[in-house]
Order: sequence, then C-alpha cells, then structure tokens
Amino acid sequence: MDRLLYLIRMKKAAPVLRQGHPILRVPTQKVDPKDILASSGPTHAAVQAMRSVFSSPYHSVIGLSAPQVGHSLSIIAYRNNTPLTFLFNPVLTPLQPQSKWAAQYESCESLPHYNCIVRRPDRVRVTALDTDANEVSFEASGFLARVIHHECDHLEGVTLADRMVEKTLRHDQYIDVFENYPSSSTHR
Ligand SMILES: [Zn+2]
Repeated sequence: MDRLLYLIRMKKAAPVLRQGHPILRVPTQKVDPKDILASSGPTHAAVQAMRSVFSSPYHSVIGLSAPQVGHSLSIIAYRNNTPLTFLFNPVLTPLQPQSKWAAQYESCESLPHYNCIVRRPDRVRVTALDTDANEVSFEASGFLARVIHHECDHLEGVTLADRMVEKTLRHDQYIDVFENYPSSSTHR
C-alpha cells in the first residue's frame, strides 16, 4: 500500500472500545430511519467511525457494532467475502433451538488477541434497514449467521465474555498448537 495512504488510514481509524468499557454494557438506541440518509448527526458519525475501522490496516475486522466505536446506536456492519454491509435496527431470530447451536472458536475486536468457544445458531433470520433506509429481510447460515449473531449481541450489551463456553478462552498464539492436547472439556 502507498505509504501516505497507509498513514492517512492509520490516523483516521476510530479507537475500538475494549471489554470493560461501560458503553459495551448498555442496550443501544434504535436509529431513526430518516437519520440513515442524513449526511451529519450521530448516525452518520457512527457509520463513519465504523468504516474507519474496516479500512484500517491495524484491524482485520469481519464484523463490528456501533457501541464498539463509542456510539450506543443499533447499527452493525460486516464483510464476509462480500462488500461491507451495514444494517440498522437489526432484529435477529434464531432458526434453530438453542440446544442445537454450534460450538466454534471466535474472537472480538473488543477482546483482542484472544479467542474462545461460543455456541451460536447455524441459521438465523434477520430483518433490518439498509443504507437506503429500506427494510430488508433475509436468512443467513453458517459463519455469516455467527457474525451477525455476535454483532447483534453487542447491541444488547452482551459481549463475547458472556457467551464463552467456560474454560475455553485462549490466546491467539495457541491457535492450532494444542488441538490434540488432552482436555476434560465437553464443549464439542
Ligand atoms: Zn465483538
């Protein structure tokens, strides 16, 4: 990457709040649909801050929520082999009973350098407003369902630490290092 562009992006990225910041514990406010199209105001500021994190060379973010950049608004964004997608006021419905939710390792920008096992639905229905303030409704499955479920948790003040399967927290440096290490864990 061009060094000047690199420095500009580095300077612009909004800080991501870490686990323990009180904003991450507060249920978010719904976005007024007319604010989605506005070129100023809190919703616009939240979207700009979220965009700055996605374009930062210091973050390899797949999903993000507005509270993580300090805006207690109901906004999530993700990119998963797709263009960056923003959803406003998302309502998520799991399409699987909780007893069938899948256990997988995942991580969070608010808890950097760690990952842990979390159970989440493999299939979800999402209803939300898009960047044109139009209502969208779709089903997501697999990894995308996991990402959207994770981000919608943030909108309720729920973090990865609340969802983690007990005793599964590990530092990133141990990914693929101790996969066959004897364990009494029964999460799988
Ligand atoms: Zn997160």
